[in-house]
Amino acid sequence: MNRLKHFLAAATMSAGLLVQAAVIPAAIAPPALAAAPASAAEQPVQAPQAKGKLIFIDPGHGGSDVGAVHKNGGTADVLERDMALDTAERLARMLREAGYDVQMSRTDQSALVDGNEGADLRARVAAANESNADLLISVHYNGLDRKEVRGTEVWYCSDRPFSDDNKVLATKVQESLVKNLRAAGYDTQDRGIKDDSIMGHFAMNGPHIEKPTKMPGITGEPLFMTNDQDAEQLKRPEVREAIARGYFEGVEAYFGQAQS
Ligand SMILES: [Zn+2]
Repeated sequence: MNRLKHFLAAATMSAGLLVQAAVIPAAIAPPALAAAPASAAEQPVQAPQAKGKLIFIDPGHGGSDVGAVHKNGGTADVLERDMALDTAERLARMLREAGYDVQMSRTDQSALVDGNEGADLRARVAAANESNADLLISVHYNGLDRKEVRGTEVWYCSDRPFSDDNKVLATKVQESLVKNLRAAGYDTQDRGIKDDSIMGHFAMNGPHIEKPTKMPGITGEPLFMTNDQDAEQLKRPEVREAIARGYFEGVEAYFGQAQS
């Protein structure tokens, strides 16, 4: 779907910080046991920034709303609805492997509310808020009538109590999306981060919905469905894996900075 019709976004902050208080001091071994192996060092390693963090992933569109479309000779051959879910599933796997908790707005090709985009978006915002997630990642692909436009961009909202966090997250994810796409062999155009105020705000990230998202978040637009070059790359599973890696490393960098 045309970018003007996107309202999806992100949210992040909230309750996660409450969970991480009770860490037992490690260095109280009695003198007689000083030479024993440190059992803490033998525990499976979990990324410290993952501890207690819940990430809400929103694969954009669904059902009869297929989102932006790539056409090959007049026939749609790649749909944003499908690519968003594939990418979101890859991202969810990476986050869970690193120790994060993950919830998703959809796990198949159905919409939450088919045939009513406004109700569908409100249901996604409500689900993100009910999850008490620390971050919201809304996974989209871009579309414009001008088919020559290609490249990578990440949107954030500058009009929320946690807008500074939104911008940090957008910056980190943008950097790592571009880096990972290039490492996968595609020299994507870096279009930078974008403030969704210029679009009148996306529903998922912005302040105008009745009960807006409670947590920092972003809407990612890593490639253009409507550009032949971008769409050809998006058909490659290794490129979708690289995009998921870009989101993942952006989340890691965000929490690394926020807690240092
Ligand atoms: Zn979209």
